[in-house]
Amino acid sequence: MIDSNLTPEQLELEARTKGFIEAAVKDGGGSFAFHAVAPAELLGLIEASRNGDHQAALFVHMADVLNRLIDEAKGAPTVCGLCPTELLDTAFWLGIAVPLRLNPTACLVLGLCPHCVGDERHVSQQVLKAFQRFVPGLRPLTVHTAGHA
Ligand SMILES: [Zn+2]
Repeated sequence: MIDSNLTPEQLELEARTKGFIEAAVKDGGGSFAFHAVAPAELLGLIEASRNGDHQAALFVHMADVLNRLIDEAKGAPTVCGLCPTELLDTAFWLGIAVPLRLNPTACLVLGLCPHCVGDERHVSQQVLKAFQRFVPGLRPLTVHTAGHA
């Protein structure tokens, strides 16, 4: 369905997003490992990444991808994965979906505002809920927090 209220930039972003989601679903056969990363964990992840931690490097890369989307928002603000709150700075959680396969080629990332994260003990469930909004036929196998802080 094409929403005629969308600007050409938003339509392009929507098409690109759909392409990424399809590639990631194909990559892992629809099965993902989900990760929640707190804003305060990023510095530790950057350090771990420099020390050769591949998972930390992936999380830092995905944080960078989302931050670039936010910076480049051309008439299409980047919003929280669960509500219309615009993500404007780094004070939001990252939800990262990694296809379950060796050397995944397409990962997904979204941001969650502090309000939607709520109690941090339930952040994994919120991340999963957010991805379920965008990815059809999702088969979550693991959900956990980064734990590098
Ligand atoms: Zn939100």
